[in-house]
Amino acid sequence: MESLRSKNYKRDFVTTFPGDESGNLTPRQTPGVLYSKAIPTPVEKVTLLAWSDELAAELGMQKPTEQQEVDILGGNLVTDTMYPYAACYAGHQFGSWAGQLGDGRAITLGEWETIAGKTFELQLKGAGPTAYSRRADGRAVLRSSVREYLMSEAMHYLGVPTTRALSLVTTGEPVLRDMFYNGNAAYEPGAIVMRVAPSFLRFGNFEILNSRKETDNLKNLVNWTIDRYYPHITGNDKVLTWFTEVVERTASLMVEWQRVGFVHGVMNTDNMSVLGLTIDYGPYSFVDDYDPDFTPNTTDLPGRRYAFGKQPGIAYWNLGCLAAALLPIVEKDKLLPALETYKEVYWRKYYQMMGNKLGLDKVTNEDTTLITQFEQTLTAIKPDMTMFFQLLIDLPLYVGSTQEVADHFKDSLYEDLKPEESELLFNLITNYLERLNRNTITRSASQELMRKTNPRFILRNYLLHQAIEELERGENQLFLKLQQALKEPYSDKFDEFFQTRPEWASQKAGCSMLSCSS
Ligand code: AMP
Ligand code: MG
Repeated sequence: MESLRSKNYKRDFVTTFPGDESGNLTPRQTPGVLYSKAIPTPVEKVTLLAWSDELAAELGMQKPTEQQEVDILGGNLVTDTMYPYAACYAGHQFGSWAGQLGDGRAITLGEWETIAGKTFELQLKGAGPTAYSRRADGRAVLRSSVREYLMSEAMHYLGVPTTRALSLVTTGEPVLRDMFYNGNAAYEPGAIVMRVAPSFLRFGNFEILNSRKETDNLKNLVNWTIDRYYPHITGNDKVLTWFTEVVERTASLMVEWQRVGFVHGVMNTDNMSVLGLTIDYGPYSFVDDYDPDFTPNTTDLPGRRYAFGKQPGIAYWNLGCLAAALLPIVEKDKLLPALETYKEVYWRKYYQMMGNKLGLDKVTNEDTTLITQFEQTLTAIKPDMTMFFQLLIDLPLYVGSTQEVADHFKDSLYEDLKPEESELLFNLITNYLERLNRNTITRSASQELMRKTNPRFILRNYLLHQAIEELERGENQLFLKLQQALKEPYSDKFDEFFQTRPEWASQKAGCSMLSCSS
C-alpha cells in the first residue's frame, strides 16, 4: 500500500505532448498545446467527507491518516512528483461547434501506477481556475460533487463502464451559484471530488487538434492513445481498427445505459470518453416512469436532444464528429464504413441485452417483435422502469384475466390504468408468457438471468436530493446508507428504497429536472 503523499507519480501525458508550462491561469486560447499547467488554488480547509475504500484497495492506496494527505484531495498540497495540468479540448455542444473548451475546473495531478503496472489519472474536480475556465470560477458545489461521487460509484457497481470517484472533500468556502438560471444567485458550500480513470480523454481532445490543423499533434495523440489504452491493436490500419473499437465501445455503453435506464443529460462531444466510459456526471437521472422522451436537463428543453430514447442516436452522431476529426489521418472511404458498424453493433447488443432483461434463452427475429411490443407498451403505460422489470421476474406463469395482470404490476404504476392500457399490458404479458413457454432454459435459470440484468436498487434523483439536503445540514445518515446500497444494486437487501418516486418529488427541482449549474 502506498500513500498519496509519498507516491512517485508518473507524468507520461505531459512529457509526451507540447503544453503551456507557464502556469498562467488567465482564461485564453492555447493553440499548439494539449494542456496547460494549472496549480490548484488552495481552499480554506479541506475536510474529508467520503472515501472509496474499494477503489483505494484496487489502486493499492492507503487511506489518508494525516491532514497533509487530506490536503492533497482538496488541492492544498501538490507533491514534488505531481505535475498538475488542465487538458485542452473542444466540443460540439447541443449539436453546434463550440470551439475550445478544456478542463475549466478539472485538474489532473498525476498518473498513479499500480503494482500490476496499470496507470490511472488522479483528477480533482473543483480545485480552482485553469486556462480553460472561461468566465467561470473553476469551483464545484457540494450538491453536484455528491452527485458525481455517488453516481460514478453506483454505475461501477451496476457494471456500467465509468470513471470512478475516490474521495469527496468540503472546502470550507462558499461558492456562488444561480441554480435556476433566474438571477437568484446564492452561496452554496464548496466541495471537490477526486476522480480516477485510466484516461479522461474525450472526443473533443481530438476535435480540437483537427480544428486547429495540428495534424502532427493529432497523429501523435491517436498513436499514444492506441499504444497506451488499446495495446492489443497492432499491424497496418491501426488508426482505423482503433476507431472501429471506439465505435464498438460507445455502442456497448449506450446499450448499458438503456439497460439500467440511465440518462446522461449532456451528451456533448466533450463529454464522450474515448475509452467508452460514462464521464462527467451533471444533470443526469435514472428513468423513473418509463418515457423515451424524458430528459433530466432543463437546458435540453424544448428540443430534448439528450432524452433517454435518443441517446443511442446521439452517440452515433458524436462518433461522426470524432470520425471527422480523424479525416486528416485516415481515408474517408475507410472511416465511413467503420462509423456505419455502429448500427449493427448497437442493435445486436441491444437485442441481446433486452433478451437478458426478459430472461430469454436466445433472441430470434420473432423476439425482436416482442421486444418492440415491450417498448411500446411501457411507453404507453409509463410504469416505473426499475420496478416493472423486477415484478416481471416474479410473474406467475399463468394469468387468467386483465385484472390479474394489472394487479401484478400495480406497485410499479404511477397512475391507474385505463381499460385500453390494461388491455395493452394483458396482450403483452400473454405474448411474453407464450414465449417463456418455449424457453429452452429452466424457469429458475431464466429468473437468475433477469436478476443479474435488471437492477433492483437505483440511485434516484430524489434520494440524492434528500441526502444532499441532509449533508448541507451536517447529517450524513442517508448519504452513508446510499453509499452502501449502491454497492449491491441487484440484491433485495435495501428494499426500503424499492418504491416509485414519491409524488412530492415529481415536479421538484433536483428530483426530476436539473440545471447544468454545478
Ligand atoms: P460540462 O457541461 O459540465 O461538461 O462543462 C462544459 C465546459 O464548461 C467544460 O469545459 C467545463 O470545464 C466548463 N465548466 C463547467 N463549470 C465550470 C466552472 N464552474 N468553472 C470553470 N469551468 C467550468
Ligand atoms: Mg464536461
